[in-house]
Amino acid sequence: MCRHLAYVGPPTSLATLLLDAPHGLLHQSYAPSDMRGGGTVNADGFGAGWYPPAAAASGAAPHDDPGAGPAARTGNAPARYRSDRPLWTDTGFAALAAVTSATGVLAAVRSATPGMPVTSTAAAPFTEDGWLFSHNGVVRGWPAAVAGPAAALPVTDLLTLDAPTDSALVWALVRHRLRAGDDPAAVLVDVVRSVDGAAPGSRLNLLLTDGTAIWATTWTHALSVRRGAGAVTVASEPSEVSTGWVAVPDRSLVVATPQRCDVRPLDAAASTAGAPAA
Ligand code: GLN
Repeated sequence: MCRHLAYVGPPTSLATLLLDAPHGLLHQSYAPSDMRGGGTVNADGFGAGWYPPAAAASGAAPHDDPGAGPAARTGNAPARYRSDRPLWTDTGFAALAAVTSATGVLAAVRSATPGMPVTSTAAAPFTEDGWLFSHNGVVRGWPAAVAGPAAALPVTDLLTLDAPTDSALVWALVRHRLRAGDDPAAVLVDVVRSVDGAAPGSRLNLLLTDGTAIWATTWTHALSVRRGAGAVTVASEPSEVSTGWVAVPDRSLVVATPQRCDVRPLDAAASTAGAPAA
């Protein structure tokens, strides 16, 4: 199953974070160590979204509308690069990553679920209005099993999915709630419950950032958190051994900033899960 990573902290080079770390996403693309539930390599594309330091420091006037996404609230709009090729073959991305730094990153390498297309638009991160999102896992019984939750979405959303994949639909469900201004933690809790309720046995590790905080779920996949030096990283697998990584228990909700990390049982988390930790 795919591997994903989110980072918030001081400006860091994309190459340092994703490519150079001993067991960073590049290494995890061809030699992952904790592929639960099938798959051997993550060769079916990849993506990276990042918040440039200049945008983070632009001082754009804050926006009080809770329904406005991060881009409107903070002026912090991410850039994104996606590909349908293996990360290790993309010399163009390596060159870009070497000269790009960011204060927030969400990146993923993909192992397509059998039957789902290999196309750049199926690769995470999915994005809108300042949000970056990834799904690591599978929706069981796709697509029929989730026809019910999907039916609650506007038809236009269904006609404009990034790709005809389970992950793109999960993003559409999350995005619909974010557009309404709902709390991101509550959104992830509700979407996991809704999708797993309709499609029991689904694997639903979700990862979301606005460039200032990271929200994540574990639902039958691995996840670890590392904090320190004013930064927080949330990743499917630690990028290095013995460097302060803490494994997140299964069925958890994570709300993390560089200053604080809350991990609570997802089964017990209220759908009004609260704002990100200060
Ligand atoms: N099911 C998703 C897809 O095919 C995610 C796959 C994964 O996590 N390996 O894109």
